[in-house]
Amino acid sequence: MIIGIDIGGTSSKIGLVDQGRVIATKRIITTGHADEFAFADALAESVRELITENGQPATAIGIGAPNANQLTGIIEMAPNLPWKNDVPLAKMVEERTGIRSVLGNDANAAALGEWRYGAGQGLKDLLLVTLGTGVGSGFIVNGQLVLGSAGNAGELGHMTIVIDGRVCTCDRKGCLEAYVSIRGLRQTYLELDGDPEVLKGEGVHCIAVAAAAGDAAALQTFRHAARWLGVGLANAVAVTGPARVVLFGGISRSGDLLMLPLQERFQELLLNIYHGRVDLVTSALPDDDAAILGAAALTTM
Ligand SMILES: [Zn+2]
Repeated sequence: MIIGIDIGGTSSKIGLVDQGRVIATKRIITTGHADEFAFADALAESVRELITENGQPATAIGIGAPNANQLTGIIEMAPNLPWKNDVPLAKMVEERTGIRSVLGNDANAAALGEWRYGAGQGLKDLLLVTLGTGVGSGFIVNGQLVLGSAGNAGELGHMTIVIDGRVCTCDRKGCLEAYVSIRGLRQTYLELDGDPEVLKGEGVHCIAVAAAAGDAAALQTFRHAARWLGVGLANAVAVTGPARVVLFGGISRSGDLLMLPLQERFQELLLNIYHGRVDLVTSALPDDDAAILGAAALTTM
């Protein structure tokens, strides 16, 4: 048994994983604790409860979090988490539970989860891209997760896709994330003179609903997103040569609206030598369990 913990901006999910299946979960709030120590106490308490309730000992704990550095076990100034200082969460959880704990970046965790349990099984070279509030990525190259010299490799979302383009959350301009995140698609819809009323709905789902009803700006929004994402993915393929690219996250669930124009753009932009050697698919893991499975997979590294 392995414990997988997914640290989110508002809540965190703790799951017990047995051979690639999530068999029990608990959820605690991420915000609202006195400090990071109180949060770690609450996490450890949930871990103990899960183990006791299921009568199964856990051999390791994997924790996926934004801005987490796997080399150091530290969450580094995550903008969407309540603590502005560095939080050595792996050590804090390990001290409180007595169970070996590994911390990793959430996008890397998603890549590992897909590799061990989902659409990347059996492949030695894989690229996973998460499309949501942000755009994250994890690269598996020759059977290894790429961490880079300081533990922060794989920031495809902050690759410049438009020179002097939109301002990104990283304060630079023209990053892929500024175009194909939830915020990015919503901005594109407005720039295409879409109906502001539509954006009163949630995330990108509201644009997908409008597109399905024939809204021209909404349809065009997905085509534009496909063009930018196609450039980013084709460029990434040229660097590490994955056998498969897996898309994960809410936006990737927009179905044919995104995937049809994206497949076309991707194939068109791929360097010839990659044609027929790389495919582009969406995640094979259940949405509810993917982050926990990914966090659990961090312990197998
Ligand atoms: Zn950026």
